[in-house]
Parts: sequence; C-alpha cells; structure tokens
Amino acid sequence: MGNPKNKTTAKEDCIVQSILQAQDLIKWYDKEKRDLAFRDIQDPYKIWLSEIMLQQTKVDTVIPYFQKWIKKYPTIKDVAKAEITDLLISWEGLGYYRRCHNFHKASKIISQEHGGQIPTSWDILIKLPGIGEYTAAAVLSIAFGKKFPVLDGNVKRVMSRFLGIKVLSVNNLKKIKKVLNLSIPAKNPGDFNQSIMELGALICSPRKPKCFKCPISSICKAALSSNPESYPKKTKKGKVPHFTLISCILKKDNLFLIHKREKNMMLGGLWELPNVKVENKLLTKPFIKKTLEKELKIKVKNISNSCTVKHSYSHFSVTMHCFNCEISNSEIILDDNYNWILKKDISKYPFSKVHHKIFNSL
Ligand code: SF4
Repeated sequence: MGNPKNKTTAKEDCIVQSILQAQDLIKWYDKEKRDLAFRDIQDPYKIWLSEIMLQQTKVDTVIPYFQKWIKKYPTIKDVAKAEITDLLISWEGLGYYRRCHNFHKASKIISQEHGGQIPTSWDILIKLPGIGEYTAAAVLSIAFGKKFPVLDGNVKRVMSRFLGIKVLSVNNLKKIKKVLNLSIPAKNPGDFNQSIMELGALICSPRKPKCFKCPISSICKAALSSNPESYPKKTKKGKVPHFTLISCILKKDNLFLIHKREKNMMLGGLWELPNVKVENKLLTKPFIKKTLEKELKIKVKNISNSCTVKHSYSHFSVTMHCFNCEISNSEIILDDNYNWILKKDISKYPFSKVHHKIFNSL
C-alpha cells in the first residue's frame, strides 16, 4: 500500500493535467507584446537589471532609470567598479534601495569570481545577493534559453484563473509550479515566461480581465465561471503605519548638515537631514530643542519653522516637520556619517524622495 500522503485527489490530478498551450501563448505574445526598452535583448546583465528594477515597481517608472543606468554602466564590470554612493544616486527615487546594494555586491562577486560572466547555472546564480527564484528563472530562461518557469504576481494571477484556484496556498502554488513545469517548452522558454507575464499585465488584469481578447479563454476555468475577477481570492492588506518626524536644517555659514543612514536600515546608505521620530504632536520650540539634544546630541538655538512635507512609501507614510536651527555646541564632534555641504552639492549625494520634496520647498 502506498503512503496515503503521496496520493493526489481526482481534483488535483485534473489540475496538473491542465497544461498551457505554449505555442498559442508565444504566438499571441509575438503579436501583442509591448515595445519596451528591455525587450528582445539577450544580454543577461541587462535582463537581470531590468528584472531587479521591475520588482515592486511599475514598468513606466523603470524605463527611464533603466536607460540612464545602461548608458552610465554598460556592463556588469562597470557596476562592480562603481562606488555605491554613485549607484544609489542613479537609483534615487526608484525605492527599495536594498536592491541596489545587493546588485552591487553581486556584480563584485561576478567580477572577481566569474571573470565578469553571469553564471548560467541555477545553483550558482541563486546564491548571489538579491537573486531569488523569480530572478534566477527569468535570467536563465530569457538570456540563456533554459527551461525554468517564472512565478511572479502576474503569473500567479493568470495561473490561478486558468486552473480555477481560489486560494494561493503553499500547496496550490506547488500545483501551479507543476503545471508551469509541464507546460514550458524547450524552445523559447523565455518567450513562454514573458507571454504569461505580459498576459497578466495587459489582459488578465486584477480588475476586469479582458477574457474576450485572451488566447486561453476557451480553456480557462475562471473565464468559464461567472466571475473571473474573483480568482484568486483577495487578501486583506493591513493598515500602513504613519510616522511623524522632526528634521533640522542645521546651518553653519553657507553649509548645512546631512547624515548618512546605516546600511542595514530602511533607505540604507541614503543621506538625510538629521531627524528624529516623535510621538508628540505638539511641536513646541523647547520640545524640539530637548529632543534634538537628547536624540542627536546636538544643541541648537534660534529655531524657526521651515516646511512640512508628506510622503507615502509602499509600506509606510511620513510627515516631516522641518525647522531651521543654528548649532550652539560649536565643539560638536561628528563622525564620518555626517557631512557639511553646500546646497549646490545636493545632487552629489543620494537622498530619499521626501528629502527632495524638502529641498524643493526651501
Ligand atoms: Fe484571465 Fe480571462 Fe484569460 Fe482566464 S480567460 S486567463 S481570466 S483573461
């Protein structure tokens, strides 16, 4: 008698027997794909870069960043040789700066250990910083023609609808992967992967999927139901936290003070105006003075209101109240993470979007 745990139900058998008609999808993709800056290229470096930039970021936002980056750093060796500060300036505004740090680390490993050649082996690629299963599969299939299916948000949605799967549980994701592995062709696996992602982006959208235009509508379980949009079941998103910060524009002659964030922090490696998170909404001058002295060890005088800016990131939002201050402990010793700069030199340092909003309003 076999292990009952290994037995699949009739419903599961039915799911894994459903395979995608790869050639129909690739034909549709050839005809309908968007003309994007990172389309139809074979260079694994550019494919990898585009996949990293596209994580959590819209295509339209990525295109100018991708083009500028490639102009400045045409090869992976150029990235390896670059200073992280310069790379962060090129990444400024794209968010999720950890991607940039990891890309830099990985480029150095490739330069030093692989002669500047991007590895063609899954086992080596997957160990590089910032490369997960999705990126490894995308690079190997698109650049090297290897049969590794990708599984991103678009693919999960298309497949859950195609297979009639309501809940994206661990088990159901395994089934989806199994079907993708059975469906991916040996010829043009990269186009197959991109065809499903493109289908998710253009036709099988989260809301109002255009099933009447879809090349797989006749075999799609969700399309045959009355409500394809209900696949997969939406998960409730938690409330995004909001932070209030006070930030000081500390002046000394024509210079003002900036601070570099720790690498392992959110927005790590970026520069900022010295700031403190506060709970107190009553921002009186004595309170600001006391807080800056206690938290930043900086004594200030002559405090005046400068501006208030708000910004929403994907996982939190901030309100930053800025104050002009003069430093009163002139003997203050600042470590290497502080710098006095001229306003005209702002562009030499990477700052987050909220800081550019502050600089624009000054
Ligand atoms: Fe999505 Fe409709 Fe195509 Fe099914 S038929 S994959 S629901 S667009």
